[in-house]
Amino acid sequence: MTSKPNKTMLFRMFVVLLCVVVITVGVAGYRLCLIMLVRGEKYQGLASEQQLYDSLITAPRGNIYDKNMNVLATSTTAWTVYITPNGINKLSKEDQKEKIKNLIADGLSEILDVDRQTVYEGTEKKSYYVIVKKKIDKETSDKVRAFITENEDYELTRYIGLDETTKRYYPNNNLASVVLGFVGDDEQGLAGIESYYDTDLTGEPGRVVAAKTAYGIDMPFTYEMVEEAKKGNSLVLTIDNYIQYVAEKQLKQAVEDNKCNERGVAVVMNVNTGAILGLAVTGDYDPNNPFALSAADQKKVDALTGDERSAKLSELRNRQWRNKAVSDAYEPGSVFKIFTAAAALEENVVTPNSSFSCVGHTQVAGQPYDCHKLTGHGVQSLYTAMSNSCNPAFITIGQALGVKTFSKYFEAFGFTSKTGVDIPGETSSIYYSKEKMGPVELASASFGQTFKITPMQLIAAAAASVNGGYLVQPHVVDKVVDQEGNVIESGNTSYKRQVVSEETSKKLREALEVVVNGGAKNAYVAGYRTGGKTGTSQKIDLINETGNKSLYVASYVGMAPIENPEIAVLVLLDEPTAGSIYGGTISAPVASAILSEILPYLGFEPHYTEAELSKRAIPVPNLNGLSVGEAKGKVTSADLIYKVVGSGDTVVSQLPAAGDTLYAGGLVILYTDGENAEESEASVPDFKGMTVNEVNNAASDSGINVKFSGNTLESANTRAYGQSIKAGTKVKKGTNVTVYFRDDSVTDFIPEN
Ligand SMILES: [Zn+2]
Repeated sequence: MTSKPNKTMLFRMFVVLLCVVVITVGVAGYRLCLIMLVRGEKYQGLASEQQLYDSLITAPRGNIYDKNMNVLATSTTAWTVYITPNGINKLSKEDQKEKIKNLIADGLSEILDVDRQTVYEGTEKKSYYVIVKKKIDKETSDKVRAFITENEDYELTRYIGLDETTKRYYPNNNLASVVLGFVGDDEQGLAGIESYYDTDLTGEPGRVVAAKTAYGIDMPFTYEMVEEAKKGNSLVLTIDNYIQYVAEKQLKQAVEDNKCNERGVAVVMNVNTGAILGLAVTGDYDPNNPFALSAADQKKVDALTGDERSAKLSELRNRQWRNKAVSDAYEPGSVFKIFTAAAALEENVVTPNSSFSCVGHTQVAGQPYDCHKLTGHGVQSLYTAMSNSCNPAFITIGQALGVKTFSKYFEAFGFTSKTGVDIPGETSSIYYSKEKMGPVELASASFGQTFKITPMQLIAAAAASVNGGYLVQPHVVDKVVDQEGNVIESGNTSYKRQVVSEETSKKLREALEVVVNGGAKNAYVAGYRTGGKTGTSQKIDLINETGNKSLYVASYVGMAPIENPEIAVLVLLDEPTAGSIYGGTISAPVASAILSEILPYLGFEPHYTEAELSKRAIPVPNLNGLSVGEAKGKVTSADLIYKVVGSGDTVVSQLPAAGDTLYAGGLVILYTDGENAEESEASVPDFKGMTVNEVNNAASDSGINVKFSGNTLESANTRAYGQSIKAGTKVKKGTNVTVYFRDDSVTDFIPEN
C-alpha cells in the first residue's frame, strides 16, 4: 500500500476545508452584523472616546481706533478652563477618584474665584468637557498651569485643560462707552458700534481636529489639523479721543452742577462731513464690565427685593447702555427757531430787515401765548427776534409760512425721518402731520414745541443751516480696514439734499452770531466768532403724567467759527434741578467751555478783539538769577504782580515758569535763597458766585493764578459758576486754575404754571 492520498481523500479534505471557511466567514459575518447593527452605537462611542477632539478656535475681533489710530477696543488672548470628568471616572480606585475630585475642586475654586461645590459637581458629570471658567487672563491661566505642575503625581494634565480664546478689552474704560457698546460671552457685539458693525468686526473661527486618548488628552504623534482663525476687520472712527474726553468732562461737570435728574448729552460734529468727533452721554459704563452699575444705581437696586429688584436691575442696565443722542426724543424748544427762520428766509416771507412786534403776549385761535419777556420786546428785526428768542415774533413767522410750507421744511431738514447714523437704536420723531396741524399746533411748532426729535436730528439740521444748506448724514465710522490696513469700506460724506440756499445759510450764520452776542452771551468763546441758539422746553407728556411741573430740558446748539463753520456742538441737560433751568444760562456755557478747549486743538487760530486783548495772555519773563529788585521791576512792567518768598537777595526760582502765560494782573512768585517750603503751598479758594474782580482778588490773596472761561466782558451780572480745581485743594503757589463764568440773568423761556 502506498501512503499517497488518493483522489477521494483530497476531495474529502476540500469539503472539510470549505466547511471550515464557510463557518468561519459565517460566524465573522454574524459578528460583524452584530457590531454594525446591534452594538454599533457602543463601538462608535468607544472609537470617538479614543480619537475625536474637534474644537473651534475663536477668531479675534478687529480693533476699534479713534480717528488718530488710538486703540479704543482690542482683543487679547484669554483662556477657557475645562475639566474632563470622564477621565477621572475611568480610574479604578475609588479613593484615588475622590482625592483627585477634591483636589481639583479646592484648587480651581480658589484660583478662579468660583464656587467649590459647582466645580466638584462638574467632576461628577459624564462628560469630557465641562467648562469651569471662560475668558481668564494670562496671570490666572499661569496659576492654573502651576497648580497642574505642583500636583504632578496626580497627572492633572489628564483632567484639567486650557483652551486658548480671545477677550475684548477697552483700554480707556468708560471713554466713549455709549458709542462703542460691548460684547457678550461669545464675543458677539451686543450694543453700540460693536453691535452695528458686528459682521465687519467678527473674524472667521479656526478649527483644531486632534487625536486624543480615552482620557481626553492629546495623543503624541497623532494627526492634528489646524485651520487658522482669521481676525476680523478693524474700524477707524471719526471720534477724536481728546474731543471725546473734553465733551465728557464738561458735560459730567454740568450734569453734577445743575443736579440733573436725567442723563445729559453733548455731541460735537463736523458740519460739512457729518463726522461725529465726540459724543458724550452721562451715566455711562465700563464696557470691560458692562453689567456693573454705578454705585448710586446699585444702591437703588439693593433697596429692592424679588421681582422688583430684577426689574430695576434690568431697567438701570438698559439705561446706562442707551445712547440718548439717538434713542431718546425730546422737545427742542427755542433752538428750533433756527429752522423756522431758515424756511421763512428761503421762501422770502421774511427778510433780515422785516420787523416784528411783541407786546409780551399774543393769541392764536383763542389760545393765549406769553413771551418770556412779559413786558414785551417791542419792535424787533428778524435777527433781534431770534436773539431775544421772542415767541410772538416766531408765531407770526410760522403763520406767514403756513402749515404746508412749514411742514415741507420740517421734512426737508430731516425731522420726519431717522438720520441713518451708524449707531443702533435710533428712534423715530413724533410730530403733527400737515393734515392734523391746525393754527394752534403751527404756532407752538414755530418755536419748537408739540413735537419730539432726537439730539442727532437736531445737530444734523443745525449743520445744514450753516454749511450752505446741505443735510449730511451723521456718522461715527470713518473706515473699515482689513488686517493689512487696506480700506474695505469708507464712511464718505453722504449728502441727502440741499435744504436752503447758500444765501439763506449765510443769513442764518449772521443771525446766529447776533444771538451769541445777545441772548446766548454765555456761549461766548474768547478769541473766536461763534453762532448758536438756546432752548428750554418743558417735558409736557411727563408733566401731564406725573403732575410735576418742573421737568425741563435745557439745550444749546453752537457752531464755530461762524464765518466759515466747521464744528457744531449740541449740549442737552435733562431735568436740571439746581436753580436755573434755562438753556441760555446752563447749557450755553458748557458749549463755550468745550469749544474753548477744542478749537485751538483743532488748529483754529484765535483772533482777539480790543476788549479781549485787555485780558490777553501775557508771557511770564525769565527772572532766574536776577536780583529781587530787578525781578520786581520786570514783573511790574509786564503788567503782572509779584510776591517774594524767602529772605534772600537773588531769585532762585519762579512760578509760573518763564514763557507760561498769565492774564494782566496775574501773580508771579519769586523764590529767593531763604525760601520757606511750607509757604509755597496754596489752598484753592471757592470762586463760585464771585464777580470777575472778586475772583481776581481771591486768587491773588491766596497766591494762585486764574484763567477765565466764558463771557467775562460784560461783568454786571457775570458770576463764576465752576472751577477746574476743586475749592480747598492744596496746590503749589502760582498754579493756574480755570474759572468758568456765566450771566445768570439770561432767560429764554416762560414756564407754564
Ligand atoms: Zn417777545
